[in-house]
Amino acid sequence: MDFFRILYDEAISFLGIGQALETFKTGNYSSFLTLDGILSVISPIMPLLLLIEIVRAVVYKRFKIEEYKIPFLIFVFNRFLSRFLSIAAVAFCIGLFEKYGIIKTKFTWYWLIYGYIVWELAHFVYHYLGHKVRLFWCLHSSHHAPEHMNLSVSYAHFFLEAPYADVIRTSICLLLGVNVPLLFFIMFIDGTWGAFIHVGENILKDARLGFLNKYILTPSHHRVHHARNALYMDTNFCNLLNIWDHVFHTHQPEQRNVPVEYGITRRINSNSFLDVYFGEIVYLVKDVCKAPGIKNKLMYIVMPPGWSHTGEHKTAKLIRNDFLKKIEHGKELVPSAQQEMMI
Ligand SMILES: [Zn+2]
Ligand SMILES: [Zn+2]
Repeated sequence: MDFFRILYDEAISFLGIGQALETFKTGNYSSFLTLDGILSVISPIMPLLLLIEIVRAVVYKRFKIEEYKIPFLIFVFNRFLSRFLSIAAVAFCIGLFEKYGIIKTKFTWYWLIYGYIVWELAHFVYHYLGHKVRLFWCLHSSHHAPEHMNLSVSYAHFFLEAPYADVIRTSICLLLGVNVPLLFFIMFIDGTWGAFIHVGENILKDARLGFLNKYILTPSHHRVHHARNALYMDTNFCNLLNIWDHVFHTHQPEQRNVPVEYGITRRINSNSFLDVYFGEIVYLVKDVCKAPGIKNKLMYIVMPPGWSHTGEHKTAKLIRNDFLKKIEHGKELVPSAQQEMMI
């Protein structure tokens, strides 16, 4: 019986419906009007959407187990370790940095806007480093390995990525004065939206979300971020407000004539948990071992993926710039794409 109890508790926790069930049990429905109550209603939306996505795929006979298998295995593997480490990392940063905040903020709508802009900056820093520093890419690459897009991809993360992300994001936010309740509220919105932007084509074929595509980061932008196409590589690092992508020139809209190819550029067995989870670490260790001299060995760890001690670099930046140059010379893409890119 214990086994079923554990399974039941896990299902409730995954679906995020614990608090809502508690409210139904007590009959105190007015609690739905409190902030916690509203959050308890929002929490189950993403897990439920994932279930709908799977059911739709099954009904329309498009369900392929391999598209969900690896994210599911990673979710199970991370279930305790990653969450525990992440909570510990956030608590540690709060203890360390809260008192050094450069300003004092309160839980008000205008500080929420300030907090969210700061959070997005912190998110940009963590995410950018996750792509541009090879060691951090080892933590982030599991999330980019899936060669399909669906909501389960939002669960595919190396177990050390969440604590790494949270240390950077929490520290920057606290130092820039975002107070703790505000930070947790922003984390909640960010987590919910961060899951939604992985919605698959089974549910949302065109993920531009109409006019919103101009003002916020939509699932369409995040599909571009997950692409290995030369044009799309290492773009759209933000999560909800994509101001920092505009500021740092990493914004890239989806082009109608450049279909997204999901995954990473190296040959990978995306059906292998070991390759998805540890593959990049293995390649980094191999490169470090064969690099001559201590300086080159260190460079492999801190330089972007694709950097080579021989000078034959194949970084995303070089590949993308080469591609853009070809467009300029009219060798790639049809004119409409060029026009769209100018915008
Ligand atoms: Zn990424
Ligand atoms: Zn993603």
